[in-house]
Amino acid sequence: MPDAPNTWDIALRQFHEVAELLALSKDLRDYLSAPEAVHVFSVPVLRDDGTTHVFTGIRSQHSFARGPAKGGLRFHPDVSIDEVKALSMWMTWKCAVVNVPFGGGKGGLICDYKSFSKREKERAARSFARRLSRVIGPDIDIPAPDVNTGPEVMAWIADEYGHFVGHPEPAVITGKPVEFGGSKGRDSATGRGLAYCVERYFENLGKPLEGQRVVIQGFGNAGQWAARILASLGATLIAISDSRGAVHCTEGISTSGAVKHKLETGEVAGLPGDAISNAELLELECDILVPAALESVITVDNAPRLKAKLIVEAANGPTTPDADRILHERGITVIPDVLANAGGVTVSYFEWVQNRQRYYWPEDKVHDRLRQIMRDALDEVQHLAEEKQVPWRTAAYMLAIKRVAHAVEVNHPNF
Ligand code: GLU
Repeated sequence: MPDAPNTWDIALRQFHEVAELLALSKDLRDYLSAPEAVHVFSVPVLRDDGTTHVFTGIRSQHSFARGPAKGGLRFHPDVSIDEVKALSMWMTWKCAVVNVPFGGGKGGLICDYKSFSKREKERAARSFARRLSRVIGPDIDIPAPDVNTGPEVMAWIADEYGHFVGHPEPAVITGKPVEFGGSKGRDSATGRGLAYCVERYFENLGKPLEGQRVVIQGFGNAGQWAARILASLGATLIAISDSRGAVHCTEGISTSGAVKHKLETGEVAGLPGDAISNAELLELECDILVPAALESVITVDNAPRLKAKLIVEAANGPTTPDADRILHERGITVIPDVLANAGGVTVSYFEWVQNRQRYYWPEDKVHDRLRQIMRDALDEVQHLAEEKQVPWRTAAYMLAIKRVAHAVEVNHPNF
């Protein structure tokens, strides 16, 4: 069968394959294979030239079975309803894999956000937030950062929501600036959680992480932090890319130098090393490949040629199902997105807890608890994968879908 044509089809196909293995009832399959709600908003934004442009904003709430919906907001031209639906379903499984008490949600604004001026960015985020406020809340749906959104955007949204309900309500959104109710350690959490997974993987393998060669595709928040923390644990970064280009240097790339260069110039091009294409980067000889950008970059076309020994998904959905099958046949382990990048939502959960308790944790407590959760989740997934002789993604989905299905059955006998 050829690769599924779009992200939602991929998400459904992954779900149904595991639902089949679990012999899930047809009723449950039908229920879990559609989001609980999908909201589509017209989002007018006043441009700096005085015109008003109406963008489309989306929020998909896939499941409330294990708690309020939870998941990021991405501002990107390629956002679509199908993409957001898929991402919200993946959030449901992700929260269940690490056992945080949330369902799955995801949202997006279809726009070229990077090209907006600072004032346009604020107006767009606030306009979307005013509309989103009708469907989110600390016990309903709690957004967070995703592609092209960070602490500043979260602060604008929290501020608008506070006006909407008439009082400050920081627990409505996570990933806020620390001075505005954010949690210490949230900014680094996705990359850090990924690095903790990799650390545990090598421990279980009985091999040192020192000297393992890492390639990172995508140098946004998750990619940068994954690079920094993996390097601090002894791994060597040998190649990185962003949407504009890629650099390869077998002697190793300084992660602090790369982050500084990216911050100053907006790109990785120009760093010491050979300039290569994004496609070449994915096929480099390395020990650990970390796709940390967008969906469907590892496909049937390049999967047969990848030379990494381990793939660790920082992005959501970077590997298509047919590529997954090829990698499995080739003996390449994939630590799937729903486990590898779950550090972000885990610390989002810590942030939400701190907001609700109005009691804030020191940074080392955040890191320690995150590390424990990631190690436990990795052990659980690995154990199941080995016991059932299935790919790690299948094992992670088996754990997650079982937990969600159980919650549906226990809490909603008639759904
Ligand atoms: N956008 C992140 C993800 O895909 C974080 C979600 C959250 O913290 O709620 O996991």
